[in-house]
Amino acid sequence: PGLMRVIFLGPPGSGKGTQAKLLSQRLGIPAISTGEILRAAVREGTPLGLQARAVMEAGELVSDDLMIALIRDRIATDASAGFILDGFPRTVEQAAALERLLAGNGAALSAVVNLSVPEAVLVDRLHGRSKDEGRLDDRPETILERLRVYHQKTEPLVGYYRGKGLLVDVDGMGDIAEIAEKIDQALPVARAAAARGRA
Ligand code: ADP
Repeated sequence: PGLMRVIFLGPPGSGKGTQAKLLSQRLGIPAISTGEILRAAVREGTPLGLQARAVMEAGELVSDDLMIALIRDRIATDASAGFILDGFPRTVEQAAALERLLAGNGAALSAVVNLSVPEAVLVDRLHGRSKDEGRLDDRPETILERLRVYHQKTEPLVGYYRGKGLLVDVDGMGDIAEIAEKIDQALPVARAAAARGRA
C-alpha cells in the first residue's frame, strides 16, 4: 500500500484505538497510541506516569509540552516508515507541533480519519468499557468531563484538517469489521487527493 502517515481523530469511545490497531496490522506500520503509552507509564511509575496520572483520572489533558516531547522521539524513528497516530494530536497546538516535526523530517500527513459517533452512544460505550476494563478515566464522573474536553480542545481539529484537505469522515456506527471496511475504502481516495494537493 506504500507509505502512509495517518491520524485517527474522534471523541473518547469512538473506537479510534481499535481501528488504529487494525489498520496498523493491515498496513504493517506501527500504531502509536498516546493513551496506551501514558497508561503504561502510570503502571510503571515512571516520571511521566507520575505527572500524568492525576490529570488523566480527572479526564483532563496532559500538557502539550509533555505530549509533544513524547511524540517527537517516536516520529523521528517512525516518520520514514509510516505510522498511525491514535490520541495525538488532541489540541491545535499539538497539531501545529506535529506538522513542524514532520516537515523537519521532510514528511507530511497522508490522511486524517475522523470517526463520528452520536454522543449518547459514546456515553453508553464508555460506561460499558468502565465495567469491562476498569479504566480509571472511564469512571462515570469522569466520562462527561472527557467529552466536554474533547468538544472544547480536540473537536476544532476537525475543521483544521478539513481546511487542509486531509479529513476523511467515517461513520463510527456499526460493527468493527464494517467500520474497518469503510476506512479501507476511504483511504486510497484521501491519499490520491493529498498527493494532488502537494503536486
Ligand atoms: P480515549 O480515546 O478513550 O479518550 P486515550 O486512551 O486516547 O482515550 O487517552 C486517555 C487519556 O490520556 C486522555 O483522556 C488524556 O488525559 C491523556 N492523553 C492521551 N493523549 C493525549 C494527548 N495527545 N494530549 C493530552 N493528553 C492526552
